Amino acid sequence: MKYTVIDRGDSLSKELAGRFHALAAERKFIRSDKEPEIVISIGGDGTLLQAFHKHIDRHEQVAFVGIHTGHLGFFADWKKDELDTLVQIMAEEKPNIVRYPLAEIEVETSTGITKYIAVNEATIKGVDGTVVSQININDELFEMFRGDGIVISTPSGSTAYNKSVGGAIVHPYIEALQIAEIASINNRVFRTLGSSVLLPKHHHCEIFSRKEQRLVLTIDHLNILIKDLRSVRCRVSNQKISFARYRPFPFWNRVREAFLDV
Ligand code: NAP
Repeated sequence: MKYTVIDRGDSLSKELAGRFHALAAERKFIRSDKEPEIVISIGGDGTLLQAFHKHIDRHEQVAFVGIHTGHLGFFADWKKDELDTLVQIMAEEKPNIVRYPLAEIEVETSTGITKYIAVNEATIKGVDGTVVSQININDELFEMFRGDGIVISTPSGSTAYNKSVGGAIVHPYIEALQIAEIASINNRVFRTLGSSVLLPKHHHCEIFSRKEQRLVLTIDHLNILIKDLRSVRCRVSNQKISFARYRPFPFWNRVREAFLDV
């Protein structure tokens, strides 16, 4: 099996990465930083986002395994003291591969169109003040938005930024995108829906910039300053992210453990 390791860069994550390589060598795993089949992410959920974007061109050949060095994560299910068990299971058992939806984001500016893929979400936020934009769903006007910004999240990202702005948590087996508002202005003059909406796989939405404005577009952990945005078009991607599960990691258990103290 060809594998690589990405760590968060802190001393504990680096130490665990070293230990993983040592244990993997004993089991005759092949280290391949360029063409891995399994990517081990050591750190947190943010580390896994970085790992995915590093290997985005090989998403069909790669499956991810997360080891957390802090709290239990949504992507990182193995604990720091379970390295030996993990390597042993990896050597002896075939993983169950689970595939979660991603978002396809097409950004049009005056210089052309750039495509991105997001694991968690894309957000559009203002730099100079209120964001003014038109939201279309399936090429028809849905609403004019004024406020701090818009979050378009995948089911995996529904527990991240989307949750902080009041969006619903969506099981990753549901292929959908969620549009959620960040502090919309609602009064007698300006009106938005106010609640988040879920788009199924065959629908798309488009966000048009409706004033001269500097915006920050985020794609997961990446921040991009855009001065001349025309539109952002979003749909459920045909690509998916694969996780190699060597033991069950039920989504609702993760939600309960992350957010409810029961
Ligand atoms: P960060 O600002 O250092 O970390 C943001 C937090 O989000 C971390 O605690 C991270 O967990 C957690 N997180 C990431 N993906 C998650 C998921 N799918 N479900 C639940 N929690 C998740 O930034 P980062 O580590 O580079 O991560 C980028 C992500 O941060 C973005 O995709 C966005 O979702 C999130 N974010 C959230 C807010 C907010 O809630 N107001 C604001 C900005 C960004 P770990 O500690 O395990 O890495």
